Amino acid sequence: MKKVIVIGAGPAGLMAAIKLAEMGHKVTVFESMPKIARKLGISGKGRGNITNTCSYEEFLKHFNNNGRFLKTAFKSFFNVDLINFFKSEGVNTIEERGGRVFIASGRATDAINALHKALIKRKINLMVNSPVSELIINNGKCLGVVSNKSSYTADAVILATGGKSYPATGSTGYGYELAKGCGHRIIEPLPSLVALKCDINLTLIETVSLKNIRAELRVDNKKLNEKFGELNFADGNLGGPIILSLSREAVPAINSGKKCAIILDLKPALSLEKLDARLLRDIETKKHENLLSLMRGFLPVELCHFFLNNLSLSYKLKVADLTKNMRMLIKNTLKELNFNLVDYCKWETAIVTSGGVSTKEIIPTTMESKLVKNLYFCGEIIDIDADTGGFNLQAAFSTGYLAALSFNSKVDNI
Ligand SMILES: Cc1cc2nc3c(=O)[nH]c(=O)nc-3n(C[C@H](O)[C@H](O)[C@H](O)COP(=O)(O)OP(=O)(O)OC[C@H]3O[C@@H](n4cnc5c(N)ncnc54)[C@H](O)[C@@H]3O)c2cc1C
Repeated sequence: MKKVIVIGAGPAGLMAAIKLAEMGHKVTVFESMPKIARKLGISGKGRGNITNTCSYEEFLKHFNNNGRFLKTAFKSFFNVDLINFFKSEGVNTIEERGGRVFIASGRATDAINALHKALIKRKINLMVNSPVSELIINNGKCLGVVSNKSSYTADAVILATGGKSYPATGSTGYGYELAKGCGHRIIEPLPSLVALKCDINLTLIETVSLKNIRAELRVDNKKLNEKFGELNFADGNLGGPIILSLSREAVPAINSGKKCAIILDLKPALSLEKLDARLLRDIETKKHENLLSLMRGFLPVELCHFFLNNLSLSYKLKVADLTKNMRMLIKNTLKELNFNLVDYCKWETAIVTSGGVSTKEIIPTTMESKLVKNLYFCGEIIDIDADTGGFNLQAAFSTGYLAALSFNSKVDNI
């Protein structure tokens, strides 16, 4: 039996602790907050989208360039294993659109309660309100931690302090300081899966939510990516699933001062020709009505005013008075509504962090540091991030599991 310290009681740290205790080790978890796994509790809008049922190959595609780093972690503990783990702890899950797996009760807090019970059942020592302020390193080996001015020794330390997003949940980015302190390189952390700010006032349409929209991200006038799905304008920003996904590439581009824009195709099912034909038909049938009435056939009413204002067209204009140029302008803008990006929302609302501890300095098959012996990393503190859909939580659970497994096989082989 070895003594192991886990820093951070999020999904990654808790999974590592549970697995280590199952393998007979004496585990202490240090958590800076009064309660465990606060971020898990608000995940998936409080419903906990814990994983995704897509294939292993598809799963890796949802990560940044570092997806390959996760191969062994996913081979050791994947989506079915996580679903079965929760089932064995009394929590059922349900699969929804796009392979997303949620906690069946609709309450992510049920997953937290189950994890808490799992700690108690396995006699894991949980120390809440106990932020770790220092790692004890000697001769290239991690020997323990300092918390609340006391030192604690261990045979191994697992650093699972999460990223920097939603700092109110406890993940303040302090883990990066701990990693930096023992020589690890930190890839600049940036908010990811975050709403984007543009140069047009969107407050008039902040209640509008659009489905089946195509959004394209253009950087320096070149298409970088596109997504199809749902979008909203909440809080005067561009938000919703497809924008959050595009933010993964938009944020670094905005940050490096590039010209960025989101172009919306509001009628992706219609080609320009078909759209023109439909416009001509509607103009004929509504020739005695005004422009607002014509546009309502194409867009939600709140968006019609915004759309026409943008084109400097009066909604009161009689449809019969619409010129060919005006019709062309409407047609082209329905296919390409441009939003120049000026900024992105900050850490307080970002769902994940891109960047973190460089994967080049962590052994991908064990999660152990290449620089410091007996120091392991798992979860969002590592430079890995993915799309929405359950991929980030699975990565946290899988890397936590692998860190535990590999520490155990290392000590078995000594
Ligand atoms: C609003 C929101 C919704 C999300 N929804 C989803 C979703 O549906 N599906 C999905 O896959 N992902 C989702 N995510 C992302 C997912 O929650 C995270 O990727 C995941 O929680 C990361 O797990 P972790 O264990 O690495 O870190 P965290 O969950 O951040 O846990 C880290 C823990 O370490 C503690 N800690 C930090 N510093 C110290 C220290 N010095 N000493 C001691 N303890 C410390 C923190 O208090 C925290 O409890 C969401 C995130 C947010 C913010």
